[in-house]
Amino acid sequence: MKNISVIGAGTMGNGIAHVFAMKGFKVSLVDISEAALERALATIDKNLSRMVAKEKISEKDKKATLANITTFSDTNAGVKSADLIVEAATENVDLKLRIFKSLDEAAPKKTILATNTSSISITKIAAVTSRPEKVIGMHFMNPVPVMKLVEVINGYATSKSVTRKIMALSKDLGKVPTEVNDYPGFVANRILMPMINEAIYTLFESVAGVEEIDTVMKLGMAHPMGPLQLADFIGLDVCLSIMNVLHDGFGNPKYAPCPLLVNMVTAGKLGRKSGEGFYSYGHGTKEWIVSKNFK
Ligand code: NAD
Repeated sequence: MKNISVIGAGTMGNGIAHVFAMKGFKVSLVDISEAALERALATIDKNLSRMVAKEKISEKDKKATLANITTFSDTNAGVKSADLIVEAATENVDLKLRIFKSLDEAAPKKTILATNTSSISITKIAAVTSRPEKVIGMHFMNPVPVMKLVEVINGYATSKSVTRKIMALSKDLGKVPTEVNDYPGFVANRILMPMINEAIYTLFESVAGVEEIDTVMKLGMAHPMGPLQLADFIGLDVCLSIMNVLHDGFGNPKYAPCPLLVNMVTAGKLGRKSGEGFYSYGHGTKEWIVSKNFK
């Protein structure tokens, strides 16, 4: 595989483009928003500069990586020579089904279609294409350049040879791929998201404050980040949509999203990307402080 198209240039898309480009793949980064493409290139540039400053890569490596990335706002143009497409657009079932239908029409027949979805059924996405055996989950973790895991998710029809190729490719990227099957939330989010939701319920029921909940889990359970801080980092809209997938998929009330999470998303408090969630951000430093709503 040589040519990789990444659909969606948000939090995950820019990181996925970064790691493929650094390993010498030609990356076409596609987004419907020109502003998102500009932000993504600026983020990749900044993250590569940080690696240069830490002497992990040279200035020449940085230039070569950036030269491997081309941006497109027209999806058809961005996927026409792809060997692999990694879709990382907004977590919304209807949107993903629409995107995969059009990718199936626009991409060469041999192209493998992977999705970075956190929770949506790979089998359902594959079913709208004419090549379900070539559709697979390639679930990178955030931040992509740093996190080692790739959860490789087999849909009902994914062929063994496609799984083998994606496992090998993930290793070539320096990642550790782990193969799982297609059930709601897969493994990562089936376990992580109910924990985050429970932390939000703990806050909602005034058992403890934001910092107290995060401190218990950081110092007591050796988690590198507290669950509320992590929820802000992931994006509260993403957390809510994953809880909805678990709730709908299993039909079990234990997965009902906490009403506080629903309210915060409705109010546009999406965490770090919107400037405020459980914490508030952007005070001119890297520091975050508990949002005024929870003081
Ligand atoms: P995001 O909101 O930061 O970015 C999504 C991008 O998709 C936006 O730039 C948007 O303009 C673009 N987009 C929307 N419709 C599009 C279309 N039709 N064609 C091309 N681009 C389109 O979202 P994100 O956090 O990067 O999440 C992307 C995917 O990765 C989701 O499926 C999410 O579940 C998954 N994921 C997220 C995380 C995380 O921590 N944020 C971790 C693992 C997986």
